Amino acid sequence: MYSEKVMDHFMNPRNVGEIEDADGVGQVGNPKCGDIMKMSLKIENNIIVDAKFKTFGCGAAVATSSMATELIKGKTIEEALAITNKAVADALDGLPPVKMHCSNLAEEAIKAALEDYMRKKNGETGDNKTTSCGRRCEDIEHLHKD
Ligand SMILES: [Zn+2]
Repeated sequence: MYSEKVMDHFMNPRNVGEIEDADGVGQVGNPKCGDIMKMSLKIENNIIVDAKFKTFGCGAAVATSSMATELIKGKTIEEALAITNKAVADALDGLPPVKMHCSNLAEEAIKAALEDYMRKKNGETGDNKTTSCGRRCEDIEHLHKD
């Protein structure tokens, strides 16, 4: 059912954990099978220098997040945003069709972490840094509208 690469990344996942002073963190969930993935990125000069993930989920979700972190390391933000779930699955020599939805999680987690990074970056350079209510994302969008 699974390719050797999927099994390898499932048994020996790369880059497991959390970056302590991460520049961007994204967490996404898959209501279908209950998978949860948290991705943290270290970004320097627009390049992803380190990526770590934590996944609570099925084997395919673990394997795709492991492969995704390998794929985005050393890439620019633009290149990482262009990585699709299909590219991750292809790098794993394919996933069973029923498990393709699990690979969406890796793509979504990368995008969520990069969005978080850009939000933080904009927050630092903008006039209004952060709000105390913890709804920074919505509030910044709100401020832009005004
Ligand atoms: Zn799954």
